This record gives sequence, structure tokens and C-alpha cells, in this order.
Amino acid sequence: MPLVSGHDVIRECTDRGLVAGAFNTTNIETTMGIIDAVERVGVPTFIQVAPTNVALSGYEYIFDMVARRLAETAVPVALHLDHGKSLDAVESALAADFTSIMIDASEESFEENVATSARAREMCGSAIALEAELGSIGGKEDDVAPEYASTTDPAQVADFVTAVGCDMLAVSVGNVHGYAPNARIDFDLLERVRAASAVPLVIHGGSGLPEEQLGRLAAFGVVKVNVASDLRNAMIRSFGEAYAANPNENSLIRVSLDAVSAIAEVVERRIRVLNPSV
Ligand SMILES: [Zn+2]
Repeated sequence: MPLVSGHDVIRECTDRGLVAGAFNTTNIETTMGIIDAVERVGVPTFIQVAPTNVALSGYEYIFDMVARRLAETAVPVALHLDHGKSLDAVESALAADFTSIMIDASEESFEENVATSARAREMCGSAIALEAELGSIGGKEDDVAPEYASTTDPAQVADFVTAVGCDMLAVSVGNVHGYAPNARIDFDLLERVRAASAVPLVIHGGSGLPEEQLGRLAAFGVVKVNVASDLRNAMIRSFGEAYAANPNENSLIRVSLDAVSAIAEVVERRIRVLNPSV
């Protein structure tokens, strides 16, 4: 089927009590691996790319690659801009027909975050789903770390969501980007944030959280969990192992296909951990 709007993924997951994985792509191996896994489990999903990862291709290439592969599948998938840190990035992704957008102005003051995110809302219109971030998630994302990490203040949540009109809220409640050994969700804080939010929540840093915690998120109003490091690690490890096993290996297609399988395995496991009922 064609790419669906982020609204459709949110609605179907909410109706079925599921959490959508949001998996970052960069290239064709990662894209194929993600969609192979999504077809096996049948859970609606976000495929996403951050502005830091379009240097190889561009938003249009990413759109074409994802849409072409999805034409063969029956599972709803939205194409999402991850960490749009500028309105220019939002504009570029919208011009390439992305169906879901994240504006990340979380490092700005509350007032500036509201103003920038509300502007992104206007740009997206009502058809494109919008994720905004309140509280700044720590850790490195593509070697970019926020100057200040801060947790989401539940007292600001209702005003922020109303003023921005976002469809999903990314929160900082102990989750950290990348493989942070001490990343742990503070479920008391998550519950207070959820109680204050009129929209479903998004957890970034899914690669670094204990599986036991990931399996509980659906009960706390979480609709989307971002996973990037696991996929990148699977691909780089797969190529590295092939070279280590045989430095004269020259079948790039076999090594690439092995990487696709490694990525699909990681994605399938994450979707099942997020959704123990599937
Ligand atoms: Zn993130």
C-alpha cells in the first residue's frame, strides 16, 4: 500500500493497544531489513530519517526507496522526519512528501519551543502528523548531543500540547539516546506526564532501555518508540564480521543481504518486545 499518514499509524496502534516502533533508515539495506520485519509481525510502524542522515542521498531518495518497497506490503507505514531541528528541515521533508514530522526545538526556552513548534504545525497542516519535544533528551544522536539534557516538567505539558497542537509528544523521562548504560524510564514521572498530556507520548532511545521496561510502555500512553542504534550496530557489525572472516570477500551482494537479515532480526525482536501480545 502507499505510505500512510502518521495519523493512521497512531490511530491503529491506539485502537489495538500497540506501540509503533520508529526505525531509522539511512540506506537501502536498512530500509529492506525494517520492512521485511514489519511484514513478519504486521504492526503499524514509522520509518524515519534525521537530517543528519540524508547526506548520502536526500529526502527524495529516502521517500522513493521506502515508498517503492512499501508498495508490496499491506502493513501501514508512515515516513517520518526524526529530530527536525530547524523549520528548513521540516520544509525539505514536507517537499519530499514525508507523511509525519518531528520538530525538535526542545533546547530552546519554553516560549521559543512553543513558537517554533506551532509554526511547524502550520506548515504540516492537518493531514501530516506532528511530533514535538518537551524536555531535552540526553545522549548522542549521530554524534550530536544537546548542551543541556532536562527532564519533561509535567506542569508544562498541558499548556505545551494545547499551544502547539501536536499529535504526539516526545518526552525526557530517563530515556537517553544511544547505548547509555544507566538509561532507565522513571515510570512515576512518565505517569504524571501522561496524565497531563492530551496526546500520546513518544520515547526516544529505545536501543538503550531494558527490554522489561520497553514491554510496559503501552500501558503508559506511549504510541511510538524510536530505535536507531540497534539497526546501525547490526549493519556495521555484519559487514565487519564478513571482512574479519574473509578479507578477500568480494561478494558485496551476499554481504549486503546478510546485513539486511541482521537488521530484520533486530527490528522484529524490538517490535515483539514492545508488543508482548503480538
Ligand atoms: Zn531521538
